[in-house]
Amino acid sequence: MTDTRLPSPIAPTVPFDRDGVHHGFLRLPYSRDDSAWGSIMIPLTVVRNGDGPTALLTGGNHGDEYEGPIVLFDLARTLAAEHVRGRVIIVPAMNYPAFQAATRTSPIDRGNMNRTFPGRPDGTVTEKIADYFQRTLLPMADIVLDFHSGGRTLDFIPFAAAHVLPDKAQEERSFAAVAAFGAPYALRMVEIDARGMYDSAAEEMGKIFVTTELGGGGTSSARTVSIARRGVLNVLRHAGIVPGPVEAAPTQWLDMPGDDSFLFAEQAGLLEPCVDLQAAVAAGQVLARIHTMDRTGAAPVELRARRDGILIARHFPGLVKPGDCVAVIGVPA
Ligand SMILES: [Zn+2]
Repeated sequence: MTDTRLPSPIAPTVPFDRDGVHHGFLRLPYSRDDSAWGSIMIPLTVVRNGDGPTALLTGGNHGDEYEGPIVLFDLARTLAAEHVRGRVIIVPAMNYPAFQAATRTSPIDRGNMNRTFPGRPDGTVTEKIADYFQRTLLPMADIVLDFHSGGRTLDFIPFAAAHVLPDKAQEERSFAAVAAFGAPYALRMVEIDARGMYDSAAEEMGKIFVTTELGGGGTSSARTVSIARRGVLNVLRHAGIVPGPVEAAPTQWLDMPGDDSFLFAEQAGLLEPCVDLQAAVAAGQVLARIHTMDRTGAAPVELRARRDGILIARHFPGLVKPGDCVAVIGVPA
């Protein structure tokens, strides 16, 4: 159990409550072999102009997902205080050690940031970062935008998403922000395991929370970066923090009705995709085949869709292991 009386060891090097553009760090003490009394310096920008709503913008929750860090480092550099009403807090690479290592989880403690909330002030490095977001940054925010992509092991059609929530008014506000983002697809999301997620932490505080999956494969593309760039400005306009109308873009809404949206590998092998992302699929259709790597003459295992829809995500590397997520189906609304 977290001792919430303990202060966070993280210290911001810039103020949150002063007007202007402030570039600095969240400094997390981390004494180690190569740096006695050293710190992890997590880049942070705070842009404030008077009273108004606060947006908290994050990338690099997983370290190998790049659209978020690209557009947020860019936004931090270019967003002028006079273009803002209220406050924008930008952390382009939330799990900074993972981002530096280009890995999903932290190389220090293997921490998956999005399974670590609410974190601990006296825990691992990843737990300390989560705790700082939980107790300091999230409470400041009115609207939270957290960028994800598929990382090295998944590839997605580009979508913004919010969760189906018990509080329908909060859900509606979140879906309105997703619509404003203006990605080609918008997803009403149900998680396979929501415990420990940053998303859930924000939603339990009643915040408007928008997430994305914009591509994947451990890289980015001109198309997905441009979607992210338009999306972040649209969310800030929607929140009334940046002036001007939301730049409208056609969006196809999708649902994820349940577990039958997901297909998992049950054996290792060589993955043959049989349909590509965005394709319409029917229940029973073969989405992928897994070929044995050990011998010739063996029939591949076929993975069949369990429902109609479109292919919204697929396993990215050419080889699979038992338990790997091979395909995800979304259902056009
Ligand atoms: Zn992610």
